[in-house]
Amino acid sequence: MRKPIMAGNWKMNKTITEALDLVRQLSMELKDIKDVDILVCPAFTALHSVSQAVEGSNIKMGAQNLFWEEKGAFTGEVSALMLKDTHCEYVILGHSERRSIFKETNDQVNKKIKAALKADLLPILCVGERLQEREDDKTYDVIADQVKGSLADISADELKNIIIAYEPVWAIGTGKVASPEQAQEVHAFIRKLISDNFGVETAQGLRIQYGGSVKPDNIKDLINQPDIDGALVGGASLKAEDFIQLVQACSIED
Ligand code: PEP
Repeated sequence: MRKPIMAGNWKMNKTITEALDLVRQLSMELKDIKDVDILVCPAFTALHSVSQAVEGSNIKMGAQNLFWEEKGAFTGEVSALMLKDTHCEYVILGHSERRSIFKETNDQVNKKIKAALKADLLPILCVGERLQEREDDKTYDVIADQVKGSLADISADELKNIIIAYEPVWAIGTGKVASPEQAQEVHAFIRKLISDNFGVETAQGLRIQYGGSVKPDNIKDLINQPDIDGALVGGASLKAEDFIQLVQACSIED
């Protein structure tokens, strides 16, 4: 049984005060949930404060990016060790906004994953096709390319510390969610790809989150799919009420 993971990607939102307000509501309302991993990913500026606020709670913290070098003349960048220093446990890598706006390549994402693993951070690798690619029947080619490229030279053992998030680009922030069947199909494809390249056992243990316009009213049908192990949530993770409902929907104890 894979433990579901519900992650909030706050993107470039929330001042420190707002972040603390949100995370305090979450930790109060979700304190009894044990069968779901709960993760918040604030902007860099709020990491330190949020880490203090969630200390000792069941809420874990991740960052939204890192740079692969350990230190030096890389103005504006943040290293894996710096994230560890703020008590981050996870880091989102290869998000489609980073791939499209900042032109990140699979090769760069691969370097970032290696840097994260080296620093004992758990990477969440994001992959997903654009609308045109889906319409051109290229979804599986794109996903295979992103998964293989981003995971180049990663061992099966290392993969145990990685989560994959399938996020169709056309569903991110658009209100257009993939149907549970569409998402399941791609998740099953990713698991098979991992099985073929890293072995069945590794593939069975791998958690694959769905991301793209996840809301309280569509989470149940998604999470009930056999290969969907949680969600990476943007918009709905910014409202305490919505994120609380999303986590509760993934808990069978609830
Ligand atoms: C995301 O950015 O990872 C995401 C899934 O956003 P949204 O939930 O807003 O579609």
